[in-house]
Amino acid sequence: MNYYHVSVDLGKRKRFSWGDHKELINFKRIVCTICGYGQLITADPNQKDPKDPDLKFDDKAWNMEIYMHRNHFADFALLGIRTIVSEKARTVLLENFNNAVDFGDLKMTSLRDFTEQEKKELRGRIGSAWVNRIANDPPQYFRLLLKQGMDLDFKKSKVKLVLDCPECGCKFYKEPRIKLIRKEISFPPRYLIESTWKGYDIFYAEGRGFTMFCTERFIEAYEQAELTGLLFDQIHHLSDTETKDREGNILTDGNPISSSTFLI
Ligand SMILES: [Zn+2]
Repeated sequence: MNYYHVSVDLGKRKRFSWGDHKELINFKRIVCTICGYGQLITADPNQKDPKDPDLKFDDKAWNMEIYMHRNHFADFALLGIRTIVSEKARTVLLENFNNAVDFGDLKMTSLRDFTEQEKKELRGRIGSAWVNRIANDPPQYFRLLLKQGMDLDFKKSKVKLVLDCPECGCKFYKEPRIKLIRKEISFPPRYLIESTWKGYDIFYAEGRGFTMFCTERFIEAYEQAELTGLLFDQIHHLSDTETKDREGNILTDGNPISSSTFLI
């Protein structure tokens, strides 16, 4: 199986639209009582007590009112660091990859729905030119929710898991430093363990946040349905006997690596 790193296409000559939140609905950021870090929580915003048994950490249930910048809509777009999808993409994903995907609701809003006061505040934040480019009548989008589909090779990636909260699912990692080489940022390579793949055709990977990965099957369905807004880069397989990666870093102490892994 070949795997691909998936990124959202921003568009070259004509930039695709992207979303920004206007209002968070049914959303409250509270401090998790177990680990002490803030997390998203679904709640009646009027409820103040974080120990209320009706409150639960749930990424799906909260909602957001969003607007779209520009009028060039792709099937996949960015909302902050997350990905949102069109109605068409949602249908294709549900038909083909039902076990891998879930969706959260979004309330779409138009420029004309902003009050004068809201526009004024937004002009102060992002500038008049950007406010004027906010779309009227954007199509419906949904938040794309994926599962973790492959484990990180912590040792090889030189990453340590320093917190794994059983209450809110919050994870913190200690990672190698990002280097600056000849004015270019060099990210330390990460290695995934292919044998831990859970069979999802689109997925997140341990320690990689909202970075998406997919299989060839996903790309076939994407192309067949003529969806737009994604870019795919194949990631490098290391054979079982390779002891160095393509940058010459030594992966093992001379012994062949035991599981098939690859560089991302
Ligand atoms: Zn926690």
